[in-house]
Amino acid sequence: MANPTHRHTRTRRDKRRANWKGQSPNLSLCSDCSELKLSFKVCPSCGSYNGRKVLNVVEKEE
Ligand SMILES: [Zn+2]
Repeated sequence: MANPTHRHTRTRRDKRRANWKGQSPNLSLCSDCSELKLSFKVCPSCGSYNGRKVLNVVEKEE
């Protein structure tokens, strides 16, 4: 098993922990309805993934 051979400095530890947040989710446009969606996830507005309908989305009337 990999074991740490040296202890890192406080600065190095804190630098590592400083940027674990603040990452925006991967957004992309749906190829079906061109709505903003999470990449590698089924589109929430039309329920399609990879050009295929995989979910029956209940249409909301607004
Ligand atoms: Zn869509």
